[in-house]
Amino acid sequence: MPVTRAYVALGSNQGERLRLMQLALDFLSSHELSIVQVSPIYENRALGMAEAEDFLNAIAEVNTSLSPINLLDRCLLVESEFGRVRGKEWAPRTIDLDIITYGHEVIQHPRLCIPHPRLTERDFVVHPLNAIAPDLVICGQRVSDIAQSLPIDELTLTDYCLHF
Ligand code: AMP
Repeated sequence: MPVTRAYVALGSNQGERLRLMQLALDFLSSHELSIVQVSPIYENRALGMAEAEDFLNAIAEVNTSLSPINLLDRCLLVESEFGRVRGKEWAPRTIDLDIITYGHEVIQHPRLCIPHPRLTERDFVVHPLNAIAPDLVICGQRVSDIAQSLPIDELTLTDYCLHF
């Protein structure tokens, strides 16, 4: 399998958020996936989740020889490893991983949509992505242009960082 550049979004709004994100990143990497760079971490209000903790969000740029579905399964394994309880869409998330892009592939599969369908509406994805890949083109648009047209709402830059 050739190596493909992909971007994975990490989010957490429950428990030791920073530690969980670091563990998830460590768990994600393997001989089939190396971390190239990680964005700064942003904090984001958990909209629509009453009394929920704020989210921490970041983007990891990775090189992977995993196929898109195998990368998804790896992300789901990381989520289940750290105890996220599935069920309610807006339930707090110990750790949430989404594949944002996988090379230049456009995938419409029952289990996987790439580029991630809600990417351009999510300031907590677009702004961290813009911090590390402003020239990346998604669906014909540069990430820096998407970021410019997407106002920052409840998003703040933190001093936290992830190591790899
Ligand atoms: P959620 O964690 O609520 O964002 O949704 C998880 C489910 O979304 C997974 O079980 C996947 O089958 C599906 N899914 C579709 N596209 C993607 C994607 N690009 N990244 C991660 N999960 C995806």
